[in-house]
Amino acid sequence: MTLATLPRPVCAPGDIGIEITDDAPDALRATLTEYFAQFLRPERMPRSNRVMCVCGEPLTGMLIGTFRWGLAHGEGCCGACGWPARAYHRPIDADGEILSLSAVLLYAPRGCDGVEVGDDE
Ligand SMILES: [Zn+2]
Repeated sequence: MTLATLPRPVCAPGDIGIEITDDAPDALRATLTEYFAQFLRPERMPRSNRVMCVCGEPLTGMLIGTFRWGLAHGEGCCGACGWPARAYHRPIDADGEILSLSAVLLYAPRGCDGVEVGDDE
């Protein structure tokens, strides 16, 4: 495992391919921005384009991805370091579900600036 210093920036809708057009209602923009800000912006492995965990291991990818499902629907973690993640996303507003999306995203730590994870070597 490699050292990584947190926090990464939080995720924005555009980081996972969700384009919010200029004419979208402000409430929709705010709801999606707030929802995805609870996750870290996904970073990709240098040559494979797979989503990378904070520990440096690939989270996604057939046979090599470390993502491990948890007990709650859509929730899981990195199988290498245990960092919590969510794979199923269904943000809602006052009118109900806005979208349904599958993407493994790591939870962002709250109030943990500069936390280091990894080996002490
Ligand atoms: Zn990990």
